[in-house]
Amino acid sequence: MYLHGTSKINDNGHLEIGGVDVADLAAKFGTPLYIVDEALVRQRAREYVDAFTKTGLKFQVAYASKAFSVKAMCVLAEQENLSLDVVSDGELYTAIQAGFPAERIHFHGNNKTEEEINMALEVGIGCFVVDNFIELHMLDELAAKKNNVVNVLLRITPGVEAHTHDYISTGQQDSKFGFDLGNGSAREAVVQASQLANLKLLGVHSHIGSQIFEVEGFRMAVEKVTQFAVAIRDELGILFSVINVGGGFGIRYVEGDSPLPIAEYVNAIADAIKSNFTAADYAWPEIWVEPGRSMVGDAGTTLYTVGTSKNIPGVRKYLAVDGGMTDNPRPALYQSQYEAVLANRANEEATELVSIAGKCCESGDMLIWDLKLPEAKTGDLLAVFCTGAYNYAMASNYNRIRRPAVVFVKDGQADLVVQRESLDNIVCNDVIPERLQKSSLAK
Ligand SMILES: *Cc1c(COP(=O)(O)O)cnc(C)c1O
Repeated sequence: MYLHGTSKINDNGHLEIGGVDVADLAAKFGTPLYIVDEALVRQRAREYVDAFTKTGLKFQVAYASKAFSVKAMCVLAEQENLSLDVVSDGELYTAIQAGFPAERIHFHGNNKTEEEINMALEVGIGCFVVDNFIELHMLDELAAKKNNVVNVLLRITPGVEAHTHDYISTGQQDSKFGFDLGNGSAREAVVQASQLANLKLLGVHSHIGSQIFEVEGFRMAVEKVTQFAVAIRDELGILFSVINVGGGFGIRYVEGDSPLPIAEYVNAIADAIKSNFTAADYAWPEIWVEPGRSMVGDAGTTLYTVGTSKNIPGVRKYLAVDGGMTDNPRPALYQSQYEAVLANRANEEATELVSIAGKCCESGDMLIWDLKLPEAKTGDLLAVFCTGAYNYAMASNYNRIRRPAVVFVKDGQADLVVQRESLDNIVCNDVIPERLQKSSLAK
């Protein structure tokens, strides 16, 4: 059994996270429950910041809040001196409501609306990562109306695509995001951005993928970005002061996943920046990264209660829990794999092979195929590890299932950071038009 962060098995044979017995959490907050190991989130943040500090480069570590965007998480990010990426008005609003400093917020997205851009201008965010020409001009116009000059990075597709283990280097990358480097649109974007009076071009951004276990892709991306920066300097006399290499740093979900220590990613990126820019006689730019998954992923655990089971002799035993694809759609979406334990009997020998089903009306609603567990009974607790990223963030109300609560645990203390949805929450936005109401039908 692989235990992350402060997780351990206590003397009662119970899983304990942040010094809190998860059986107590289940009793107090109910299940399903997302549990976040606060110390581990802080540790991850510090690993990034400390590693960058040692490189001597100027940097920003921007937490990609799409991985898990709630107010308490924004407060943690602020306390750990991170910047913050947002991709919608909802994520921006969450950050602002949490008191996150606007000047450390970066706005991403391939289709920012006028409303969203105006909101971001009004709160005074630090940087827009511009994705396309329509946005470039809309942003300039909207900034002009507010007499503003805004910082921008241009998102470029460098033609490096990472698939965890292999990298595809393509001339023309087929992606909905960004300005293509190979076909000249990135260059054209620099030309236009530099001519727009209400934009201040800081540099470029690239993001090559997710759940990456090696440094080679980042090196390749830095190399392509440097070549581009040098060409732009030589042809246009424009200098970049910021290079953002995105996120995508991998984490260990299951045995066989082999992420590198955070410092190794950071050092590889910093070394590539230093050597490439030095070779081109170009001042070292400030370097920004955007970790999402690796900031919160392994700090999250989802606690469920075991309900029913169905044994098909010779075929499979299904064990159903009180959540499923509504709180964790990743297995259904990406065939993602997870490890889990029977949290209230974690010392017992695993004697059965079971598959963990959710409670949704959907055969695809499976959380884990083929998991070895002690023989589980109704009422036992199942803890699924590594659910901190893209779980609560992707949770839905399918089947009108209520989204779970989220608690932060640390040093023996558990604090609610998101309440469990109520049944009233489920219907609170529903409207019955008057013409459908009984009184008007009777007329
Ligand atoms: C999703 C995303 C990230 C974060 O990716 P992780 O794999 O969670 O680290 C960072 N930057 C951009 C532009 C993204 O789209």
